[in-house]
Amino acid sequence: MIEQQIKSAIRDIHDFPKPGIIFKDITPILKDPVLCDAISTAFLDKIKDMQIDAVAGIESRGFLFGLTMATKLGVPFIPVRKAGKLPYSVNQKIYELEYGTATIEIHTDAFEPGNRILIHDDLLATGGTVTATSELIKEMGGHVAGFSFVVGLSFLKGLEKISAISDNIVVLAD
Ligand code: IMP
Repeated sequence: MIEQQIKSAIRDIHDFPKPGIIFKDITPILKDPVLCDAISTAFLDKIKDMQIDAVAGIESRGFLFGLTMATKLGVPFIPVRKAGKLPYSVNQKIYELEYGTATIEIHTDAFEPGNRILIHDDLLATGGTVTATSELIKEMGGHVAGFSFVVGLSFLKGLEKISAISDNIVVLAD
């Protein structure tokens, strides 16, 4: 039901951001407040037993439902950002992309050691971004409580990659 609504709302953009890529554009979801509310409710229902102390959302579309979930749970939100965007002192993780590397950063005071953190993003593709986020969170003394995504691209095998990190994986549509 929610899965069908999400799939109907998302549109495929061909050759974005590069020729040959079909980009899943989630922005039509944001135009529908009833669907946004249903997505938040579905996430909260599925994560309620994960004992989450904070939600880490990945720049930039992971901020959307990530902050909503954190607010509704009554826990802090942690922005996970690309290099050079966070103003305070940071811990960072460099990870491999298909061509080259990328860097993510988290503020050094974003959470307390031992906190159970839900990692959230709009879309799971290869799983590289959330795997790097998990490693950074663990290096900072946190525990990965689980993952949540609005969409999962199952053909890219991201689920297999991250299931080694946590069994608690919520994907609303794949
Ligand atoms: P991964 O690291 O390969 O799993 O890629 C996931 C990251 O890339 C997430 O932060 C997504 O927001 C972004 N991403 C990759 N492909 C798409 C897409 O088709 N639509 C929206 N975001 C995408």
